[in-house]
Amino acid sequence: MITEEQARQDIRELLEYIGEDPSRTGLKDTPDRMLRMFREIFRGYDPAQKPEITTFPNGQDGIVYDNMVVDSGTFYSVCEHHCRTFFGEYWFAYLPNPKGRILGLSKIARAVDYCASRLQVQERLVHDVVEMLTGALGTENPPRGMALMMRGRHMCKEGRGVRKPGMMTTTCLTGAFRNNPQVRAEFLSYVGKI
Ligand SMILES: [Zn+2]
Repeated sequence: MITEEQARQDIRELLEYIGEDPSRTGLKDTPDRMLRMFREIFRGYDPAQKPEITTFPNGQDGIVYDNMVVDSGTFYSVCEHHCRTFFGEYWFAYLPNPKGRILGLSKIARAVDYCASRLQVQERLVHDVVEMLTGALGTENPPRGMALMMRGRHMCKEGRGVRKPGMMTTTCLTGAFRNNPQVRAEFLSYVGKI
């Protein structure tokens, strides 16, 4: 395990490597600030910060809900190839099992945030989130399907290298979203509109 002081020293050396003087006033506290930032944006490596995904029995609120539930939001992550930010919007949907469980709505965003707080590739990120939420709903009466689409801007593509703007889209579809074109079409009709 690397100590905090070692990590601080490594950042100072990196600053030197790019041609800076890590001892000048503006940079003196930068290694400390970076370590604090790392603890925040990479909290997805800390199992203690893994969010608890609360679920409720379908029907508990007096209605057995078996239509599509759709949610949307934003995400921030860091690409593992260049350690540059990628960020954007997501659209999530699932079909609850009438005999199964319902996801607490805020938990979708929490799962996205936790899985995004690691070095990621956008292809794996969609899978990690769907896996976490599917796992929370249990295997006894699993949801009839789940869908997640993410659209992200990658600073490693826009701010360096090819330097071209553009969105990357990745999806993870399971169950009815994968097998039933009508269900998939309904999900896609929400994308970009909510
Ligand atoms: Zn990259």
